[in-house]
Amino acid sequence: MTDSFPAFKIGHGFDLHRLEPPPPEGRGRPLVIGGVRFTHEFGVVSHSDGDALYHAVTDALLGAIAEPDIGRLFPNTDPAHEALDSIVFLEEAVHRVELAGYRPLNLDTTVVLQRPKLGDARDRIRKNLAAALGIPVGCVNVKATTHEKVDAIGEGRAIAAHAVVILQHREHLHA
Ligand SMILES: [Zn+2]
Repeated sequence: MTDSFPAFKIGHGFDLHRLEPPPPEGRGRPLVIGGVRFTHEFGVVSHSDGDALYHAVTDALLGAIAEPDIGRLFPNTDPAHEALDSIVFLEEAVHRVELAGYRPLNLDTTVVLQRPKLGDARDRIRKNLAAALGIPVGCVNVKATTHEKVDAIGEGRAIAAHAVVILQHREHLHA
């Protein structure tokens, strides 16, 4: 049945979250990017922990295997997902990729954020993503860019993340 499955599948994910001050001024939760918590005067507005990078990667994985996206798998109306660590979403997507007979080969991501800088946290984020996907750190890239101070992201009112992942079917894997 090898021919029934493409050897490779590619997936793309995008996510954006509003940034607000913490309560009582706003609804911002602590800022978490790729499983790393940042100290920042603004936090993410989200039902879960609002990890935009994990959400984008989750959607890239689900997109590659043509499964429902994160919003349909994990409705933000479900109280069980309140403040949930987004690694749960990512692990579920990795599990579904395995069930579909595929495994990730490499992942490329971009975080779009005016402030704060990812700085040294970038390598920790790469390690988190590599561990979640079960691939070497060298196969995970985390790029960061600002939004040139224009529009919502540039004005510090939002964070966005893009992810592209490629999967290989296990019957096409070389031992
Ligand atoms: Zn999200």
